[in-house]
Amino acid sequence: MPIDIDFFLETVARAVAETRTPVVDLIAVQTRDPFRILVATILSARTKDEVTAVAADRLFRMADTREKLARLSEEEIAHLIYPVGFYRSKAGYLKQLPEALQTFGGKVPETIDDLVTLPGVGRKTANLVRSVAFGRPAICVDTHVHRIMNIWGYVDTDSPLKTEIALRRTLPERHWLRVNSLLVAFGQSICRPVSPHCDICPLLGPCPQNGVTPRKIMKKSANGNRQTLRFISWNVNGIRAVAQKGFTEAMTGFDADIIAIQETKAHPDQLPPEVKNIDGYTSYWHSAERKGYSGVAIYSRLQPDRVITGLGNPEFDCEGRVLTLEFPSFYLINIYFPNSGEGLKRLDYKLRFNQQLIDFASRLNRDRMVVLCGDFNVAHKPIDLKNPAANVKNAGFTPEERAWMDSFIEAGFVDTFRMFNQETEQYTWWSYRFNARAKNVGWRIDYFCVDQASRDRVRNAAILPEIMGSDHCPVQIDLLP
Ligand code: SF4
Repeated sequence: MPIDIDFFLETVARAVAETRTPVVDLIAVQTRDPFRILVATILSARTKDEVTAVAADRLFRMADTREKLARLSEEEIAHLIYPVGFYRSKAGYLKQLPEALQTFGGKVPETIDDLVTLPGVGRKTANLVRSVAFGRPAICVDTHVHRIMNIWGYVDTDSPLKTEIALRRTLPERHWLRVNSLLVAFGQSICRPVSPHCDICPLLGPCPQNGVTPRKIMKKSANGNRQTLRFISWNVNGIRAVAQKGFTEAMTGFDADIIAIQETKAHPDQLPPEVKNIDGYTSYWHSAERKGYSGVAIYSRLQPDRVITGLGNPEFDCEGRVLTLEFPSFYLINIYFPNSGEGLKRLDYKLRFNQQLIDFASRLNRDRMVVLCGDFNVAHKPIDLKNPAANVKNAGFTPEERAWMDSFIEAGFVDTFRMFNQETEQYTWWSYRFNARAKNVGWRIDYFCVDQASRDRVRNAAILPEIMGSDHCPVQIDLLP
């Protein structure tokens, strides 16, 4: 049944009345200056509001007009706006902006067609500037608007552009100007991208919750005061690259106790402090000897009793693939399994690594629960990839690799995701080619596994495909430690 959009948006407006105003709206209220609104909107893309606000303030102190901005070098702009996401690219856009505005007599243009000709201005930014700076009818569809409108079933689309087109047809014009700021505030506070807070949402009941896995509240166990812990595992395909694509925001949004990262491709001393030290977490690292290759890390809110790096075999440990934290009631083993490689050149290496991993995990399992997670680099069953028949000879789905996964399960470990979900098309990795992620042509190769005796402690397992930034998405479990 279609939702009552007036009721939904009014409810959201009441729910976010106390929350912080999105930074671009705030700047609009403070200045009413289209130039500053345009610059702040460019800065705000893929950046937290707090960061945008500080960076915009620093920049406007030096250059609050087109003429003053033209006098700054690209390097100076980059320095002033750091650490907004993609600050180097944005510095380049801002350097070109004064000249680009000459075409419009030095003023910010009002139409979408003109705005999108400016450097760093896509359709979303253009819509936001048009509505916020000029009060013109425009629907700015960012990821929050796109996501929430689909959750509500008000549109059924697979891209922000399609959502914008659909909303132009169906959303009454009286909502156009404010829908973005309402849903951004709502998306940042209640209907969050990861684990929305449905338990406190005033729309719980009428909301269809399409495709949503609500957050689990930390519960007391039946027999005492133990609580569930949340674990995340994510192959980031280069932590320095993902740091430019909202990594710290995603890490904070997970609200997890332990976050295991694979394929860091960096030593910790190569990272900026805000990536290495995330508020509330201590990070642990095992990097490959070869720079820019492989590597794993764990961010933990809990203090481990012991940290074990590698498997105790130099042949594998030089590649920085295994990191284990020991806690009083469990071990967490974070693994980046080798890829069999082109022509299956590394299949032998991988199978030897895999066997040693089973021995290592089984040994630890003698005295307590074992949680294994990471990029296993194998799709276990035909249900775990889009095109099984076409991939039987390819790395990640060879009979040998799948047989190893069988032996891993037989050795007493459980694929937790399949405890809760038997559906097809549940993937964690998509090729960057052929628009594979948008078409959901993927593989499920990232897992959380536990030893058989501990399976009842697992309360939830999920894939988080909405988290972007890598060719893998994160996976999650909640469990009773
Ligand atoms: S009930 Fe949950 S999914 Fe629906 S709007 Fe509220 S937070 Fe979002």
